Amino acid sequence: MYMENTISKNTVKLNRGQKLCKTCMSVNAARQMVCKTCNSPFSSKSTPVKNQINNWKNLEKDSYFKVVQGSGPYYIASKDSESHKVGEKVCMGYTGVFKVVKVEENGILSYGLSNKNAGYSFIYMGPSKTSKETGIKMEPHKLVKVKIRKRT
Ligand SMILES: [Zn+2]
Repeated sequence: MYMENTISKNTVKLNRGQKLCKTCMSVNAARQMVCKTCNSPFSSKSTPVKNQINNWKNLEKDSYFKVVQGSGPYYIASKDSESHKVGEKVCMGYTGVFKVVKVEENGILSYGLSNKNAGYSFIYMGPSKTSKETGIKMEPHKLVKVKIRKRT
């Protein structure tokens, strides 16, 4: 993570299906989980998420989806605390499996299905922006398809 943004992506031309290792600058296939040259792991941010839902506005009522951990709104810690250091990304987004209640303009009103996320939640899916009052970075959540076995 500490190497992020220090190397301009424009210095090396990448073809489709390729990505660059930020540690040793070697070119890897996009599906590579670790660098084939130096074994550095690639951050999940640059790797496509399997079963990702892109057309979230078409989600039907009562269908299920899972929010990818670490996606969604966050802020940057402004002072050290027990759990976070200055400059660290603090995720505020939801995680877990949800049921669609209603698709709205900037997100999905949903119902959390586990003990951790139980209850109604609004899953932000709107554009990326920074709140001037709070400094919170609003980022759309990443959603993936889930299969739920219904008990009959
Ligand atoms: Zn490498």
